[in-house]
Amino acid sequence: MRTVNAYAAPSATEPLGPTTIQRRDLGPHDVLIEIAYAGICHSDISTVRGDWGPAAFPLVVGHEIAGVVTEVGPEVTLHQVGDRVGVGCMVNSCRECVNCLAGLEQYCLKGFTQTYNYPDADGTITQGGYSTHVVVVEDFVLKLPEAIPFEKAAPLLCAGITTYSPLAHWNAGPGTKVAVIGMGGLGHMAVKIAHAMGAEVTVLSQSLRKRDDGLGLGADHYFATSDPATFERLANTFDLIVNTVSSADIDIAGYLSLLTLDGTLVNVGAPGEPLPIPVFALFGNRRSFAGSSIGSIAETQEMLDFCAKHDIAPEIELITAQDINRAWERVLASDVRYRFVIDAASFA
Ligand code: NAP
Ligand code: ZN
Ligand code: ZN
Repeated sequence: MRTVNAYAAPSATEPLGPTTIQRRDLGPHDVLIEIAYAGICHSDISTVRGDWGPAAFPLVVGHEIAGVVTEVGPEVTLHQVGDRVGVGCMVNSCRECVNCLAGLEQYCLKGFTQTYNYPDADGTITQGGYSTHVVVVEDFVLKLPEAIPFEKAAPLLCAGITTYSPLAHWNAGPGTKVAVIGMGGLGHMAVKIAHAMGAEVTVLSQSLRKRDDGLGLGADHYFATSDPATFERLANTFDLIVNTVSSADIDIAGYLSLLTLDGTLVNVGAPGEPLPIPVFALFGNRRSFAGSSIGSIAETQEMLDFCAKHDIAPEIELITAQDINRAWERVLASDVRYRFVIDAASFA
């Protein structure tokens, strides 16, 4: 075991603060990563605040991790000391269910091992990336393209792949009209990626506050959902809508009415409360309502290489560990532009 510095949530209601945690000794296939940067995902906050059920405290969250390999287990073949690497939301899976065998570990039928707040094979609870180091089995570690700096690579490991995967699966590209609901961490990546894929991109945001940014990131159109005229004007328009909103308090029937024939609204936002889906909104235009969970390891590598090739990276605000609690409040207030990234040197 090695003791490393981290920032932990002591409970659902108290601020995060400095602590130390144990990282396991390297197994034959483990790599030790010295973390350079960790992104802040809304899921970190939802987990700690108990939106999806109680968490195991004290808890270190963070599943957007970028760093350097500093040690490898004796049987590691995929990575070497000095490699630039990333870790996202998964650190393992069962490796034997039909979905794992199909290379879709994010849909592991036994549940993939989440990077934090999840029972690990050794009985401990996984602890995430708000920390100086992490130990991860080699095949759940991604290679970071040279072209992407560490601090910009980190958010790709969750926000990037979670939006890339549904856009790729539902064939966003030339000739398709894609709408993105919510211009936050996931939403702004969805805009950039859908634009790079060649789709016509529309942002549906609560207000026009971030309109100039959205158009600058590659959106073709930008509408405020607080204006009822938006729903009339855009009725029956989109082939694909990606909903990134973290709240269930949205007009889901209104959004479904914006889908064209055979269009799909895919939900990646993960509110704690159920979304009420009126079936009649699905009957019209033979619409589909779908969900999507992160992306596989192979697809995450594909996304990283796609982002490097298309010169895509998140818009980030770099912070230190001492700023995390304030940054969380800003995320909750939809005041993130557009991903907070923590300099892991400040955990030391
Ligand atoms: P975020 O940065 O907070 O962005 C969410 C955006 O949604 C906000 O910036 C805001 O954009 C909009 N929004 C927030 N509250 C709203 C409300 N009450 N009504 C309407 N719009 C609202 O969060 P994130 O990190 O992108 O994560 C988004 C969601 O995805 C979270 O629920 C997270 O847990 C989930 N998630 C899911 C997966 C998955 O695998 N499916 C992976 C990662 C994250 P505007 O101001 O532009 O309206
Ligand atoms: Zn996330
Ligand atoms: Zn499995």
